[in-house]
Amino acid sequence: MTQSNPQKLIVGNWKMNGSLAGNGALIQDLLKGWPTHQVSRRVQAAVCVPSVYLAPCAGLLHHSCLDLGAQDVSAHDAGAYTGEVSAAMLRDVGARYVIVGHSERRQYHAETDQLVAQKAQKALAAGITPIVCVGESWSERQAGQTAEVVKRQLAAVIQLNGHCVCEIVVAYEPVWAIGTGQTASAEQAQEVHALLRAQLKAAVAMHERIFILYGGSMNAANAKLLLSTPGIDGGLIGGASLKAADFLSILADADAVSRV
Ligand code: PEP
Repeated sequence: MTQSNPQKLIVGNWKMNGSLAGNGALIQDLLKGWPTHQVSRRVQAAVCVPSVYLAPCAGLLHHSCLDLGAQDVSAHDAGAYTGEVSAAMLRDVGARYVIVGHSERRQYHAETDQLVAQKAQKALAAGITPIVCVGESWSERQAGQTAEVVKRQLAAVIQLNGHCVCEIVVAYEPVWAIGTGQTASAEQAQEVHALLRAQLKAAVAMHERIFILYGGSMNAANAKLLLSTPGIDGGLIGGASLKAADFLSILADADAVSRV
């Protein structure tokens, strides 16, 4: 059933950071600290890199235990959509994941729940796992609207994608916790994860297991507590994924907590 996953999934979101040389060096450092022969099957890991660096990063990650992800995808297949990148193109360069509905895209690019659902649909059709971000703003939390907001955001994706929804990853990312250093407490995250899991359980086959990640100022100091919280299947990590030592420490914590 859509229960908590015995494995962990740790995904870095590099956002619009780095350079060709800098990102290459970061990948080399990650691969040194997360070498294939030591990697536990209990932890899956990926980095979502800026789109212009997908191809070079794919080359560096080939045959490694780090998967490649993108940070956005077009809701269109092909054609006159200047600046956009299609799901087929992402697949072509080796992306396994794509983040959709990140709060920064909802906020700065006015992405609606429907558009996010369409992007998830395009990713799924291309064989890419969409990491669907949902989360409430601080004022929504203060107004007691957290459940309503996250359920509305996820409902749009479920409605458009039907049974395919068992192929998605969900990331609960409270907007007030992203890049602020203010993390949701384990209890706050657990409560929302349980809501989302129940919503997924009502929508997909009982035997399916869907990863529900937590994102929002997860770092080397707080990852262990969050990742050991029942119902939290992993993390979507922004700032701390830009430092190899911090991201590797989070991977090690994920490995440690998934052993127990
Ligand atoms: C994110 O942008 O998805 C994120 C979780 O960022 P940070 O870890 O920096 O809060």
